[in-house]
Amino acid sequence: MNRQYDLQDRPLVSDAEEAALKDALLERFVRYAKIWTTSNPDSAETPSSSGQWDLARLLQAELTEIGIESELTNHCYLVARIPSNLPPGTPIPETIGFLAHLDTSYEVSGKDVCPCVVNNYDGRPIVLRGGVTIEPGEAALGRTIVHADGTTLLGADDKAGIAAIVSTAAFLVAHDEIKHGPVELLFTPDEETGRGLPEFPREKVTSTACFTLDGGAGGELEIECFNAYGVDVTFQGRSIHPGEARGVMVNAALMAANFATMLPRTESPEATDGYYGFYCLMESSGSQENARQRLIVRDFSRSGIARRIAALESFARAVEAAFPGGKVTVDAKPTYYNMKEAIETRPEIQARLEKAAKNAGVDYCFKPIRGGTDGARLAELGIPTPNIFTGGRNFHSRSEWLLLDDLLAACRLAIELTRAGLH
Ligand SMILES: [Zn+2]
Repeated sequence: MNRQYDLQDRPLVSDAEEAALKDALLERFVRYAKIWTTSNPDSAETPSSSGQWDLARLLQAELTEIGIESELTNHCYLVARIPSNLPPGTPIPETIGFLAHLDTSYEVSGKDVCPCVVNNYDGRPIVLRGGVTIEPGEAALGRTIVHADGTTLLGADDKAGIAAIVSTAAFLVAHDEIKHGPVELLFTPDEETGRGLPEFPREKVTSTACFTLDGGAGGELEIECFNAYGVDVTFQGRSIHPGEARGVMVNAALMAANFATMLPRTESPEATDGYYGFYCLMESSGSQENARQRLIVRDFSRSGIARRIAALESFARAVEAAFPGGKVTVDAKPTYYNMKEAIETRPEIQARLEKAAKNAGVDYCFKPIRGGTDGARLAELGIPTPNIFTGGRNFHSRSEWLLLDDLLAACRLAIELTRAGLH
């Protein structure tokens, strides 16, 4: 059968192939999940932990075995390429990239992960060690679930993405009859600490559009995220023996407390969802002489984020007015910007994603990310990068679990995305 150019309405992955693909995804995911790749936010190195090297080297060896050349940079970025297999003389489409991160969140242990596989899920809550309970719900009935044992996270964020990308690559290499453009595979360190991308080997990357496989429930596609700022607020007071303090002491710790109460509670993470932004106090410390607070500020629009930072400045002036002689400084630095700005400049990328989702039989929806991905940072480097679901749930927790059937759908979608003539 010539499956070359007549596939616009037919999926590339047959039912028989799908079963094999599902087995391959599960085998890969379980193998990767067992590797300890927790990143370390206190390290100044990239990668921040040695386990990320272990996974990167394993992936490189695996890709070599599949027949795909790759390069591992001295900061643990693995870049691999699958050349186009279009007949000579055919115009070569743009290179697209798939990206997933090697590290797992440092908020929960990722050491000695024990992935457990539940086939034909029966709908009952799953109780793990330490009383951790998972309730996958009706959508998972009869399907395949993977979870950890309750003492660690699972690491579907983002080893599910890695498993989907490697399986997509292996599928393309094994099915030369599927005609595709050039494809790049990118595995990056330290996404969770937000520190990885400064070492991103931009010069080695030829993709003009990328897709991160770093999302959640099946069907969720993401093309917009927050604009994010980290804000350091410092409070300078004046310390003196409390017995002689009248009219002299300026208590920096109290100034900080006063500042924190000015943050609108209705615009906090716990009071907002959807498209509403927030202020969030992350950390507060100090004494009479000096105090410090660390905040994060999030908003989907640039004007919204500017308004919030201006508000913080005005709170600072109000605290100074209430504590004569005290000084408050607000230092706001961008962490990432809404990737929608870059994606909107190339509407054909979203159209391609939607077409691939339809061809893969994925019931999709677009959802704003109340956070960021490496895609947000790649967008700043000029590479529009939407995010695709992986089927993982409850990320960064001991109750993290993966719906393998969703991961299979993500893999089918990725295969469709590579197809020549889909744009
Ligand atoms: Zn992730």
